Amino acid sequence: MLQIHQLSFWERKSYFEGIDFLIVGAGIVGYSTAIQLKRKYPTAKILIIERGYLPSGASSKNAGFACFGSPTEIYDDLTNSPETEVWNTISMRFEGLEELKNMVGHTTIDYQKNGSWDLIHEDFSKVDISPTFLDYLNEKCYHYFGIKSVYSEDKNIIQLSGFNKIKTSYFNKEEGQLDTGKLNIALHQIALREGILSLYGIEILDFQESEKDVRIETSIGDINSCKLIVCTNGFAGKFLGNEVIPARAQVLVTSEIPNLTIKGTFHLDKGFYYFRNIENRILLGGARNTNFESETTTEIATTEDIQKVLKELLEKTILPNTKFNIEYSWAGIMGMGPSKTPLIFKKSDNVAFGVRMGGMGVALGSVVGKKLSNLF
Ligand SMILES: Cc1cc2nc3c(=O)[nH]c(=O)nc-3n(C[C@H](O)[C@H](O)[C@H](O)COP(=O)(O)OP(=O)(O)OC[C@H]3O[C@@H](n4cnc5c(N)ncnc54)[C@H](O)[C@@H]3O)c2cc1C
Repeated sequence: MLQIHQLSFWERKSYFEGIDFLIVGAGIVGYSTAIQLKRKYPTAKILIIERGYLPSGASSKNAGFACFGSPTEIYDDLTNSPETEVWNTISMRFEGLEELKNMVGHTTIDYQKNGSWDLIHEDFSKVDISPTFLDYLNEKCYHYFGIKSVYSEDKNIIQLSGFNKIKTSYFNKEEGQLDTGKLNIALHQIALREGILSLYGIEILDFQESEKDVRIETSIGDINSCKLIVCTNGFAGKFLGNEVIPARAQVLVTSEIPNLTIKGTFHLDKGFYYFRNIENRILLGGARNTNFESETTTEIATTEDIQKVLKELLEKTILPNTKFNIEYSWAGIMGMGPSKTPLIFKKSDNVAFGVRMGGMGVALGSVVGKKLSNLF
């Protein structure tokens, strides 16, 4: 690949000189930050740099759940983290989904508010959701979002969808699903329309700060920018150490299933498994908890053991007595850490980070972008 010093006057001047904000990572957070900054500073020159030929983290590989928390996952979070922290993060997800829909438009991303179900599987870890806990969740949701009766128990879905080994389920009427591919294209198009530059296939290797700007070392040479904003999520450990731990998530999609009755988004086992319909196919992801060690990696690859667990769950629980093939399978990298709250901070006057979106960055991404832009 040509290095910057080999480029023409026009190329260097148009893309690489006079940059006000250089954003690393073309995921939901990178794009949202760029769009918010451009709205705040219309004349600023903003460049997004992405190392893949497509975004290569999680934003174009996720399951497209527009979700903010299933009862078993919230229950688990409350046993591991302070209550205020848990509800602040849930509120950020809720706010982020609203922000996202406003930014790109419901129809553009094929947003469908079909609701979600947290399925209680006979064989998985036991988290008993009592009526008192459901009341607590509903009170909190009313307090934070002003919406009544968000969660309710639903036993009917088990028969309606033909599930096996499911004891009961908890319905969330406020969650939905979207088309991840359309969301990525929409963000790219908004950025383009608003005059934001983005370049793919360039890796940021390091950066050094001076008093007036930041020199960024990349795979095609050095670039200077007044400000640097790092939105590399699961890959941010490179700069932040153990504050961000990569977590691989694997997914598969079935062949088309005639007369599929499953419609909506479904969670199991504290969010460690998730599935939804995409038209008349099933997308299923998860099982990271069956091998945390191997899934703590930035390597974007599927593995036989996790794919096998997922396929078995399809055969035994989700689609028993149904013929299907696996037509797609892939992996993406999430950013986890000691807390589920994203890390949004200024490292210095000219450098900021917006990373660690956990498993619900579709929901968090746009609000994180807004908060990051407000740091400048
Ligand atoms: C399989 C899977 C399913 C998921 N399902 C859901 C879901 O249904 N709902 C939900 O809310 N969330 C889901 N998530 C999580 C969600 O997708 C992420 O939290 C969110 O996309 C993170 O967005 P981001 O912009 O912070 O990071 P990313 O989308 O990961 O973007 C970071 C970008 O930085 C780039 N990058 C990294 N290092 C460098 C470098 N040195 N130089 C240049 N570029 C670099 C990467 O290539 C990447 O494109 C899922 C994640 C995965 C992996």
